[in-house]
Amino acid sequence: MKAIMKAKPGPGFVFTEVERPSSLGPRDVLVKVRRASICGTDVHIYKWDEWSQSRITPPLIVGHEMAGEVVAVGEAVTRVKIGDLVAAETHIPCEGCYQCRTGRMHVCKNLKILGVDTNGIFAEYAVIPESVLWRFSPEIPLDYASVMEPFGNAVHTVSVTNLLGKAVLITGAGPIGLMAIQIAKVAGASVVIVSEVDPLRIQMAKENGADYVINPLENDLVREVYKIVDDGVDVLFEMSGNRKAFEDGLKCVTMGGEVSILGIFGGRIEVNIDSLITMRGLTVYGITGRRMFETWRIADELLRTKKVDLSKVVTHVLPFNEWEKGLELMISKKCGKVVLNLDL
Ligand code: NAD
Ligand code: ZN
Repeated sequence: MKAIMKAKPGPGFVFTEVERPSSLGPRDVLVKVRRASICGTDVHIYKWDEWSQSRITPPLIVGHEMAGEVVAVGEAVTRVKIGDLVAAETHIPCEGCYQCRTGRMHVCKNLKILGVDTNGIFAEYAVIPESVLWRFSPEIPLDYASVMEPFGNAVHTVSVTNLLGKAVLITGAGPIGLMAIQIAKVAGASVVIVSEVDPLRIQMAKENGADYVINPLENDLVREVYKIVDDGVDVLFEMSGNRKAFEDGLKCVTMGGEVSILGIFGGRIEVNIDSLITMRGLTVYGITGRRMFETWRIADELLRTKKVDLSKVVTHVLPFNEWEKGLELMISKKCGKVVLNLDL
């Protein structure tokens, strides 16, 4: 079968022929991958940044966002059957630790990540444990089912706060920020303000329903936000991973408001916690992954019922062998989500 691999340490991937998996553990499932989407993490591994060097052991089939079809099951599998359409939660929990046994599997102590710690899904077939498969509603187009994992990041972030009638600021309109705009609207936000620096993403934020989009390189974010909402926003979703966006974002939140951080800053950052968080009585949530499987259920319902429309987020669907073009698009950020179609 064809697969995209990190064959050896160093930058780049190879598109190569590897053996199709022939044996399955008792709770493993063989999935025929039909769509695969490219994540920022794949770009990190492709570039072989510091994080990848410390975490990845080649040779490894990369990729983790996918939609596929079950073609074989291990002897003890009960949750899916041959022919089911599935997406995958990419955080593989141990199911035995304190967190797993107390409803917090998304922060499992022994977490393994698909396509990072185990062979991933940029391949015609992938072996995935049944514990992380999600049978998505057949009404959901495969191109959108493939991005249910990052969509779940947006759902998780938005769903920790009650947004009914609330003013929201989203810093960063990457694919996840774009998804969050629509979800926040569905959740009843009165105003959704977005800050973004990239011209294409600014345009996309508008197309996905942002009421206001502010470019902090052109206008002072804090001043502009207080012009729109006298008291400041009730909720901040940090989705840029940019230090300045976070600090200014905090200043935009009303006293006693709420903050959810999804963005990854890639290291230590400095903010004045006393004056920006503690003395202003903010509640701060760290968001990692998706809650298993509440988030998936909500994500499925939002897509099944078309409450959220991903047509303005998934900007490119390419044949599998054009993966390099997909990576270039991701690196240039001239895209929303890029999906690879393995049926073509
Ligand atoms: P992305 O990098 O495509 O999007 C980030 C966006 O922020 C970009 O469009 C960029 O132009 C914008 N940006 C940069 N500087 C800015 C600034 N000063 N002000 C406003 N916007 C600015 O990433 P994504 O895939 O949409 O993911 C969003 C963030 O969430 C990233 O930081 C990513 O690493 C992180 N992430 C976290 C988790 C988790 O589990 N916590 C999971 C997935 C992604
Ligand atoms: Zn665990």
